[in-house]
Amino acid sequence: MPVPLLDVNAQNHPLESELQAAFNQVLKHGRFIMGPEMEAFEKEVAVMVGVKHAISVSSGTDALLLALMALDIGPGDEVLCPAFTFFATAGAVSRLGATPVFVDVCPICFNMDVNDARAKITAKTKVIMPVHLFGQCADMDPLLTLAKEKGLRVIEDAAQSIGSKYKGRDSGTMGDFGTYSFFPSKNLGGFGDGGMLVTNDDALAEFAKVLRNHGSKPKYYHHFVGGNFRMDTLQCALLSVKVKRYAQFTADRQRNAAHYIAELVKLSGVVQADPSHCKCLSTQDAWLAAQNARIVLPVSYAHNEHIWNQFTLRVLGGKRDSLRDHLVSKQIGCDIYYPVTLDQQKCFETLPESSRTGCEVSHRVAGEVLSIPIYGELIESQRLEIISAIGEWIAQQD
Ligand SMILES: *Cc1c(COP(=O)(O)O)cnc(C)c1O
Repeated sequence: MPVPLLDVNAQNHPLESELQAAFNQVLKHGRFIMGPEMEAFEKEVAVMVGVKHAISVSSGTDALLLALMALDIGPGDEVLCPAFTFFATAGAVSRLGATPVFVDVCPICFNMDVNDARAKITAKTKVIMPVHLFGQCADMDPLLTLAKEKGLRVIEDAAQSIGSKYKGRDSGTMGDFGTYSFFPSKNLGGFGDGGMLVTNDDALAEFAKVLRNHGSKPKYYHHFVGGNFRMDTLQCALLSVKVKRYAQFTADRQRNAAHYIAELVKLSGVVQADPSHCKCLSTQDAWLAAQNARIVLPVSYAHNEHIWNQFTLRVLGGKRDSLRDHLVSKQIGCDIYYPVTLDQQKCFETLPESSRTGCEVSHRVAGEVLSIPIYGELIESQRLEIISAIGEWIAQQD
C-alpha cells in the first residue's frame, strides 16, 4: 500500500459540514477583509499559546517580514539566523536589505547553537532569529540571556512549532515577536496561505497592526510605509474550526512519533539521539561509531514538548540517498528537509564571507537527513509498513 509523505486534506474531510457552515457565514455577511472571524481567530490563538497579542497575517513569511519591519531592521543591520532552516527565515531579512548572518545548529535538535550565535555577534547585530525546527523549540533560555546581555531583539520563527513548549512556555511567546504559519503542511494547516505574528509588547503589537495595513492610521493617513499583510476573513473562519481540534492533532502526531521510536530502535544499527551530546558533534560521532549506528532517530529534549511537524532521521555513512531510493521504490513518501543550507544558497553568494562561515554541523546534517510520514491520520498499518521497509533496507546493508 503506498504511503504519501503528507495528506493535508485527510484531517479536513471529517470537518466538512462545519467548514461549510463557516464558509456560509462569511459569504452571508460579506466582510471579507478584517471581518469578525478574524478577530475571533486571533483571540483563539492568543489564548491557546498564552500571549497578549496575536495578529493574523498573509503568511508565515510575511509574519517574519512584518516583525523585522516593526523592529525597523534594514540596510546595515545584521540578523542571526540558523543555516539549517527553510529559506523564508533568511529571505525576510534579505528582502529588507539587512544581512542574514548564518549560525550553525545543534546535531541533536537541529536548532540554533547558542555558542556559535555568541561568536557571530558584531556591532551591527540587531536581532537573533531562532527557528523551532521540525516542531521542537530551540534552547531559548541561553539565547534570551545572550540577547539581553547584548541588547538584541529576538524573533522566534515558530512556523513549524505552534503549540510546542519549552520549559512550559509556548514557542513564539518568549521573544519580542513570534511567528506562526498556517501553510497547509504545517501542524495547524489552513486552506491556502496564512500566518500569525504574536507578541506580549503592547507598543510593538500596535505598530505591527498599522504596518499590516499599509502603515495607515487613521485611514488614508500614512506616517509609515507598511504593506498589505492581512489574512482573509474566510481563512480565519475556516481555521477557527480546526484550532478547536488542535490538541488532538498534536496528540496524533505524538502517538505516531512514539510508535516509530519504540519500533525502530529495535532494529540493529538504529539508535535514538542522546540529548547529552547537545551541540557537540565529535562526542556524538564517537558514541555513534562505538554502536555501529546507521540511522539516528530524533529525540525530544525532556524540557520540550515536541509537536513533530517532521519526523527526521539522520542516515549515516553517506547512505541517505540509498535509504530514500529504497523507500521511494516501496512507494513510501519521504523527503529531504533541507538539502542545501542557507549559507550555501546561490542567492546569498554575494553576502560578505563573514556571514557565511562556520556552519559545519549544518552541512553535515543536510547530507544526512530524511523525513518520513508523521501526519496525524497515518494509520498503524501504514506506520508498520514504513518500519518494515526501513528494516528491509538495513538488512541489505554490508
Ligand atoms: C513554512 C515556514 C515559513 C514560511 O511560512 P509560509 O506560511 O509558507 O510563508 C517560515 N519559516 C519556516 C521555518 C517554515 O517552515
